Amino acid sequence: MSPRRARRADETPKGPIRPAGIDRVEEAADGDWVVRTVTGGSADRPYRCPGCDQAIRPGMPHIVSWPHWAGGEEERRHWHTACWRNRLNRGPGRTRY
Ligand SMILES: [Zn+2]
Repeated sequence: MSPRRARRADETPKGPIRPAGIDRVEEAADGDWVVRTVTGGSADRPYRCPGCDQAIRPGMPHIVSWPHWAGGEEERRHWHTACWRNRLNRGPGRTRY
């Protein structure tokens, strides 16, 4: 079984054109993730970062990520940029959503 290979085909751009340079896909040890850099300007409430369990204040630039597979957008998480970068160093396989 190779679901990763099946997903790969979906990376071909199609459909409505997205704003350039905002979303990207990161391949990591814990899977493929869509990562969106958020300037924070449009946020009107704090989010809680799953990396450090601290608030991300409105207006603070941060990252939104979600699993790169069908339905993954339902699992969007807001992260501090540094916490996202460090998430794989926080312990072996405990943060699987
Ligand atoms: Zn954090």
